[in-house]
Amino acid sequence: MSLFVQKFGGTSVASIERIENVARRIIKTKNEGHDVVVVVSAMGHETDRLVDLAEEVNYQGLDARREMDVLLSTGEQVTISLLAMMLMKHGFNAESVLGRQANILTDKEHTRARILDIDAAFLQSRIKDGVIPVVAGFQGTDDSGNITTLGRGGSDTTAVALAAVLEADECQIYTDVEGVFTTDPRVVEGARCLKKITFEEMLELASQGSRVLHTRAVEFASKYQVPLRVLSSFNEDSPGTLITREDDAMEQPIISGIAFTRDEAKLTILGVKDVPGVASAILGPVSEANIEVDMIVQNVAADMSTDFTFTVRREDYDQAMEILQNIAKSIDAREVSGDNKIAKLSLVGVGMRSHAGVASRMFEVLAKESINIQMISTSEIKISVVIAEKYLELAARALHSAFDLSEEAG
Ligand code: ASP
Ligand code: MG
Repeated sequence: MSLFVQKFGGTSVASIERIENVARRIIKTKNEGHDVVVVVSAMGHETDRLVDLAEEVNYQGLDARREMDVLLSTGEQVTISLLAMMLMKHGFNAESVLGRQANILTDKEHTRARILDIDAAFLQSRIKDGVIPVVAGFQGTDDSGNITTLGRGGSDTTAVALAAVLEADECQIYTDVEGVFTTDPRVVEGARCLKKITFEEMLELASQGSRVLHTRAVEFASKYQVPLRVLSSFNEDSPGTLITREDDAMEQPIISGIAFTRDEAKLTILGVKDVPGVASAILGPVSEANIEVDMIVQNVAADMSTDFTFTVRREDYDQAMEILQNIAKSIDAREVSGDNKIAKLSLVGVGMRSHAGVASRMFEVLAKESINIQMISTSEIKISVVIAEKYLELAARALHSAFDLSEEAG
């Protein structure tokens, strides 16, 4: 007998009919003799609807994050009760469980709280009593009893965290796609569903723009070594993608996937002095404004002066530009320029560690398509480039085909 945590996303519970379909999947696992703890999201688009309502109140300028959490957490409360009732209708003993009841303790960072601790005793005792606990994803409680939420998409993290403390055999994330693909199948026709991928690769893909899983959920799974499977709620026959630790026996493909994001903008400050303290003078005020900086490039100075470029999220572009213009004056830089029509594309694969020449091959492919690379950054298992947004799809297709990602490795 195994213990599975099964998480169902918003699309999978978007109607009563779909909730019944979800109940069937859970029942199937139960009938195979396993224990199940269920985690659900709010019904599809419900969280967006609640966000829109709050925007109508027009609370701008007020810090209403505590109230946002009270509001947003209601979506999951609806689905846990409906699903529990549905399981009961089919003759199973099920019980809805709020974040607080599951003892999911978080910090006080409303709307993006982090889980600090989960006391598994309550859920364990419910399982022992033969109950199927149906837990509200995305929500927790701080040590004063306030409701908190984990950030958009946070139900994945709830599921993985529960799987970790319950020492589940697998955490299964049921979603509206078949699994993790080599790249976005809407952009590249030959994109293929991966059977297996390592935590490290998935973490890079998630943070570089693949939206299948919440990044924090993958971090959690990797830290606690929780085997994680992404699979389709709608296609029973597909085994999905297993995300797991690196296995030496397995022949690793060089590249596992291509991730990309259009959510990028770059800013350059030209003609800054090449002296100690310049990078911190530029990036200090940017980070104080809570703007996340991604790639950073500073050139070697030829004549005591250099250029400094960095990327931010597109939505932060205007604010970052304003800050940079002020800095430019104060450090006597020549000028500031920027571009918010850029995209970032990344090749990811653990096989890069043992194979030289991936970067040069990538650059060759892009050159052949006459795509100019504006910035480059690398890590042990990833190469990212910034290019003009209008070439993104072309680049993704060309690279997918050049690295033979449509074919199964091995
Ligand atoms: N309902 C929340 C959202 O839409 C959490 C989740 O679905 O994971 O972001
Ligand atoms: Mg999700």
